[in-house]
Amino acid sequence: MYDLLQKYFGYTSFYPLQEDIIKEVLAQRDVFVLMPTGSGKSLCYQLPALLFTGVTIVISPLIALMKDQVDGLLANGIPAAYINSSLSYHEVDARRQQLLKNELKILYVAPERLLMSEFLEFLRGLKVCLFAIDESHCISEWGHDFRPEYRQLKVLKEKFPHVPVMALTATATQVVQDDIIRQLNLSRNKVFKASFNRKNLYYQIKPKHDPFHQILQYLNGRRTDSGIIYCQSRKAVETLASGLQAKGYRALPYHAGLTAEVRTEHQERFIRDDVEIIVATIAFGMGIHKPGVRYVIHYDLPKSIEGYYQETGRAGRDGLPGDCVLFFSYADKFKIEHFIQQKEDENERQIAYKQLRELITYCESNVCRRRVLLAYFGEQFEEPNCGGCDVCVEPKERFDGTIAAQKILSCVYRTGERFGINYIVDVLLGARNQKLLQNRHDTLKTYGVGKEYAKVQWQSFIRELIQLGYLKLDGDEYPILKLHEKSRPVLLGDEKVSLIKPAEKIPVQKAERSDNYDHTLFERLRALRKTLADQEGVPPYIIFHDTSLKEMTVSYPQSLLDLRKISGVGDQKLVKYGKAFVEEIVNYCEENNIMPRQFCQPSAEFSAKQQKISTIQLTFDLYKQRLTIPEIAQKRGLAVSTIASHLEKLILDGEDISLDDLVTSEKQQQIRKVFAEAGMQTLSPVKEKLGEGYSYEEIRLVRAKVMVER
Ligand code: ADP
Ligand code: ZN
Repeated sequence: MYDLLQKYFGYTSFYPLQEDIIKEVLAQRDVFVLMPTGSGKSLCYQLPALLFTGVTIVISPLIALMKDQVDGLLANGIPAAYINSSLSYHEVDARRQQLLKNELKILYVAPERLLMSEFLEFLRGLKVCLFAIDESHCISEWGHDFRPEYRQLKVLKEKFPHVPVMALTATATQVVQDDIIRQLNLSRNKVFKASFNRKNLYYQIKPKHDPFHQILQYLNGRRTDSGIIYCQSRKAVETLASGLQAKGYRALPYHAGLTAEVRTEHQERFIRDDVEIIVATIAFGMGIHKPGVRYVIHYDLPKSIEGYYQETGRAGRDGLPGDCVLFFSYADKFKIEHFIQQKEDENERQIAYKQLRELITYCESNVCRRRVLLAYFGEQFEEPNCGGCDVCVEPKERFDGTIAAQKILSCVYRTGERFGINYIVDVLLGARNQKLLQNRHDTLKTYGVGKEYAKVQWQSFIRELIQLGYLKLDGDEYPILKLHEKSRPVLLGDEKVSLIKPAEKIPVQKAERSDNYDHTLFERLRALRKTLADQEGVPPYIIFHDTSLKEMTVSYPQSLLDLRKISGVGDQKLVKYGKAFVEEIVNYCEENNIMPRQFCQPSAEFSAKQQKISTIQLTFDLYKQRLTIPEIAQKRGLAVSTIASHLEKLILDGEDISLDDLVTSEKQQQIRKVFAEAGMQTLSPVKEKLGEGYSYEEIRLVRAKVMVER
């Protein structure tokens, strides 16, 4: 398992639960995998697929996602394909032929296709070793994305009683979990549930007063970061997207009012890093697995906590920090309530109200955001300070705000409890707006008594008074401020009010965490990655994730062997892209006089890699004593193929290894010839051409030599 993990994925250790889940699958048992976004669910079926003799069928709801996953697998050298309605008859047929010849390890299909009786029959003629049902919450009406065709998947257990089923989802509620297990008829299945805490996400809620400028302020200094901004309406999406474009940001809109072609194009441009920002309604998201999204902004209120968790979950899939910013205003709350009122169905209306209330509580609360979110999913979070939310990290200082509160309450009283927040603030500030003058409110005692604070500050005092129960928002058409029982003693001077102390200036941007990497080199590697990706027509993250690039900018790998130590660099990627990246890094180091500190990253992953290095070193020592491969293998008690792979790595690292000691020159010539015809990416066609007398080890050694020469 570990060998495959390194070879195909470039990782040296598993994420939590992955190993246990894989063992369970290898023992042919059904499993239910409940892990949040970014926790590495795909590996749970992709790795066992490599160990099975037959094919693993992955059922996935979205076509765009399938292509993406298959591209990722192919880039890692794993034979995979997908079948869905986007393919022509001939393309489908070609894949069927591959399946019949058992040439594919993983096949992605959409449920509609899978469920065609003819296709099920076809599958029965193959050796299917596992069904993996991705996004399995789509099966449940209780989930946030019910798809009727998913319901039919229960036939899998009837038609393939002996093939294990793995259901995967990132949806956390208990009702949905039970429903999935029941619907799929999973037997004696084991449930693997990871914590839903997304440690790398930073949650913050900002009072929304001038959202466009607040967003600009936030984006300032994040021009190259990818992000998603969610709005409620199509109109808001369009306006914000063009506003950002006008300010020089590369932003595109995405909503259900655009044609399917335009939507696909915009999504595509986002995942390919042609644009940094997608402004979207919630229609956007399920279809993308872009790992390097650095922030998710809610410009408007989301619909529910569950929705909010899923949407924010799209940030930081790669494990690097992600920001989740929600702009909250009571006016938005009002707007949503207004929508809900118009719903016909009483039951639906009740559910919507409940979801809204829960969300408002989340926004208003002064408790750790993480704790509230996790509690919603039935998980207790006990740490006193999570270190990753505004409540914990930017605790608010309070002051005696009685006078400010009295001014507000009295102003609400004197204007007859008939106006909204902004009007009251205008009165306090002595604004000369027409409506105010018409109402003769410039003659009130409270007119213009609030010049000591800015508009924004008064707005936030009022919001706080609402939260504290001194004021309430009411009204049919638009929100109106009303007094509350609790306001009396304050107005009479019998009760003091403690308010959050005004900040010097409103901090919108938090300091970037984990900033210790070489930004200039990172940008250069990103540019290189983009060029290569465009040449191949794949999204940049298919080549390397940001995580891998960042690691490179920390340890400055100077050779292919160094590069192989980077997480996410498996064999295939090493062969394909290694040289280009090493060259870029070496040049950069030379230009900037950087002396790469060799092993400067003592992580667990890193030391595991170091152990690997010392075993290679042992092989090298024996080679220097002029032992042959079989002799070294015998002496070390390792397989011949392992020793060959050590020598391969040494060659790649530019060590002085003479190929002539290992492969006869005649064979070398022959292998080089076939490389010239068939390429070096995949070795099986090369081996086929060469015939019986040649081993994979020999071919790989020659390939390493050719690469180094190039
Ligand atoms: P999920 O489907 O649960 O959202 P993914 O399968 O997309 O998660 O994986 C999330 C990220 O973690 C990906 O960038 C993936 O390459 C990476 N990853 C998965 N397993 C490991 C591992 N064992 N070591 C390092 N990175 C991993
Ligand atoms: Zn917290």
